[in-house]
Amino acid sequence: MQLEYERKNINKEADAETLKKINAFAEDYKLFLNNSKTERSASAYAAKLAEEQGYKPFSFSEKLKAGDKRYFINRGKNIFLIKVGKKDIAKHGVKIMAAHVDSPRLDLKPNPLYEDCGMAYLKTHYYGGIKKYQWTALPLALHGVVVPAGGNPIEVCVGEDANDPVFYITDILPHLSQEQNNKPIASAISAESLNAIVGGVPEKEEEKDGVKKAILKLLNEKYGITEVDFQCSELCFVPAGGARDVGFDRSLIAAYGHDDKVCAYPEMKALFDSDTQDTVIAVFADKEETGSDGVTGMQSKVILDVIETICSSLGANPIEVRYNSKCVSADVTAGYDPNFAEAYEKRNSAYVFGGTTISKYTGSRGKASTNDASAETMAYFRDIFDANGVVWQTGELGKTDLGGGGTVAKYIANLGIDTLDIGVPVLSMHAPYELIAKADVYSMYQAMLAFLK
Ligand code: MN
Ligand code: MN
Repeated sequence: MQLEYERKNINKEADAETLKKINAFAEDYKLFLNNSKTERSASAYAAKLAEEQGYKPFSFSEKLKAGDKRYFINRGKNIFLIKVGKKDIAKHGVKIMAAHVDSPRLDLKPNPLYEDCGMAYLKTHYYGGIKKYQWTALPLALHGVVVPAGGNPIEVCVGEDANDPVFYITDILPHLSQEQNNKPIASAISAESLNAIVGGVPEKEEEKDGVKKAILKLLNEKYGITEVDFQCSELCFVPAGGARDVGFDRSLIAAYGHDDKVCAYPEMKALFDSDTQDTVIAVFADKEETGSDGVTGMQSKVILDVIETICSSLGANPIEVRYNSKCVSADVTAGYDPNFAEAYEKRNSAYVFGGTTISKYTGSRGKASTNDASAETMAYFRDIFDANGVVWQTGELGKTDLGGGGTVAKYIANLGIDTLDIGVPVLSMHAPYELIAKADVYSMYQAMLAFLK
């Protein structure tokens, strides 16, 4: 009998066959990431993958039956994947897998375009919790939609193709940084200086704002839009380029937006690969990074509407169904970073290569604003993960009282559904390029397969 708890390292324990599977899974994940830089593109790409698996568009007025597979894109920015099983949902509930597909970035302001000193700029308003100094001096791509008067949404994506131009926000040179160097890091770059350079060739005959006018002309030729159409757009700058393997042994992946596509993807893949007879809802939400508000956020009633549509189709009592349901709220947690050891409590941190991480609670200070899964819920998941050979660990988000962070778990738990926080440990969370281990995203996939089994 083993009396002491011992942490595991997946790469140490894995045989050659498992390492091969880990690497193959990582290739598929990178493809998803590269096509999913915003919640809109993630929802659209997830729908495409679901269609390939036989999923059909969902309608609130249809009568679902066992065996049905549906997808529902809520206002373009939040997707539900629904698989109706044979098991009695009143007795077994539904299994819910939640994650979010929005990531921190730089949104454009409603009146973003201006010219200064022969350069055209776009003004941004940051979205989510970023460290502003990290977003200067790197290539940026522009993603999103514009809706012109009386027209349909026009998709914009510039900066991802190798032949595309990119955009750029400057930082002050070190030679002139004496004042900046003495500022606290949070104010070293101000929000109002996050203005991206987008051009420099003027319309020759124009006396004033020739570059701005030239850019507007280019935009009009390419997209048929005018300056006022920025007011009806959702455009954002994200780091340009795709996910990259990290390390001589390629054991990690650096990419924009691991948080939280690194949890959404394994959930989706597990749903596709599982032959479960439970009824399953996978929900990939928007707006997590700004508090889960709004019609596409996890606080929206849309998830209740989806559950109730399933219940009324199958003639089940929705209250009973919710009471018997289980949810995994999958979101990244902070991986222990030896470079910043002072921010972590070593015994209760999540370790990279240590597997998918259960956080009994998130939140901050005295467990404010958290779901805090019960001992019984923790035990339920421990038993199914252990029975299926999933390597997993527990982790807190750093030292108590140093900060904290929330997830969507509490919004689902508030509906009367037992919910567990689980996710992949990330290094440099919310940086333009975040870092995860291939072994950990694979462990997340195995955990979700076990949950659905
Ligand atoms: Mn997250
Ligand atoms: Mn986040």
